[in-house]
Amino acid sequence: MWSGDGRQMGLLMLDLDRFKAVNDSLGHLAGDELLQQVAERITARLRDVDMVARLGGDEFIVLLEDIVQPEDAARVAKEIIADLNRPFCLSMSDNVRIGASIGICLYPKHGDSPELLMDHADDALYQAKDAGRGCFAYFSEDLTLVAQERIALESRLRQAVEQQELRIFYQPQVDFASGHIVGAEALVRWQDPVDGLVQPLSFIPIAEESGLIVEIGAWVLHETCRQGRQWLDEGLPPLTLAVNVSPHQFRRGDICAMVATVLDETGFPPEQLELEITETGLMENQENAVVILNSLRAQGVRLAIDDFGSGYSSLGYLKNFPLDVLKIDKSFIDDIPFHQDDMEIAATIVAMGHILGFKVLAEGVETAAQLAFLQEKGCDSYQGYIKSQPVSAHEFVELLRKK
Ligand code: C2E
Ligand code: MG
Ligand code: MG
Repeated sequence: MWSGDGRQMGLLMLDLDRFKAVNDSLGHLAGDELLQQVAERITARLRDVDMVARLGGDEFIVLLEDIVQPEDAARVAKEIIADLNRPFCLSMSDNVRIGASIGICLYPKHGDSPELLMDHADDALYQAKDAGRGCFAYFSEDLTLVAQERIALESRLRQAVEQQELRIFYQPQVDFASGHIVGAEALVRWQDPVDGLVQPLSFIPIAEESGLIVEIGAWVLHETCRQGRQWLDEGLPPLTLAVNVSPHQFRRGDICAMVATVLDETGFPPEQLELEITETGLMENQENAVVILNSLRAQGVRLAIDDFGSGYSSLGYLKNFPLDVLKIDKSFIDDIPFHQDDMEIAATIVAMGHILGFKVLAEGVETAAQLAFLQEKGCDSYQGYIKSQPVSAHEFVELLRKK
């Protein structure tokens, strides 16, 4: 268990607030009953791999296996605290309220032996109680602050989803041959009432880690298809609308059913919907990926690989996947025409993409020189500030009408 195999574990030491008062006023039997219910609530929060044990008195320890981020431990601690704050119903009294404080320490960061970890978790518990009970604290204060900020941001983001503060901006995709806008990529923004427009890079990673991306992704898909249907009804020409699918959504496997439902509900034509999946998303799910992609394809949806070249960059494995479009990552476009290597890579991706039967789109085109180079190399379409930044639905229609 304590071997240095690169895994991270979290040790939570939990102490009940106001337990003694219950014990004193209602008696030991009630106290025992309460402890039993506390153990049940804690266990209900945990995964099968995690462990919980009673240390004696009103102290429990929880061992969280394989946590990815230090904040993961705080998230569990926060949930346990919230669970234990709800009233308990005992045989003698049906509205018993207690609370809990939790100290957290991480293996191997805060210690590599059980004794050391227990000591440090105990220190952390002391800090949590000192901070005013009903809180968690890490062994190191900086982690506590980071985790608190993270959790606060997560709950604001959750609220943002509920209060419909998310917006979609559309960035035109232009066909080289005709020079026309033939589609758009849907890019989410957060219209925060206080902070203004928040860019996705400030909240998508947090949404990914907390699992909120599933709800956000579903909303983006629905809203984009709804908007797309409305544009068709208003007489705009058919456009391909591209929606980003996060690796997390892809991993869950119910993406096919979700897409089917959204298409059905909105009446947006499947052949006008393009789903963008990143290389990482594909690589993480290699076995399932082909099955999922095939079933999306069977619904008539188009598939694109996003940010191509930024990750594993293997054109070889791409031939296994049923894709329609390959999007060359902006990082290869940036240094055209100054960086010979990048120019050759970009040209090779275009050529190889075509051999594999894909259309190739260049991302992040900003200059006329980049545009000319890509056109000469036979790239099919592009997206970038040279045409337009992502804009609101209203502004996007104006762009289209200007043509
Ligand atoms: P992405 O999917 O690769 O989207 C392209 C990003 O490049 C967009 O950034 C776009 O504004 C930016 N971009 C396009 N052309 C240019 C250019 O010429 N110059 C420069 N400097 N930038 C350009 P944005 O909107 O900030 O989105 C960033 C990333 O956030 C996206 O990268 C995507 O990975 C993620 N994202 C955005 N919306 C969603 C969403 O609804 N779901 C998911 N899962 N991810 C999203
Ligand atoms: Mg994208
Ligand atoms: Mg991209």
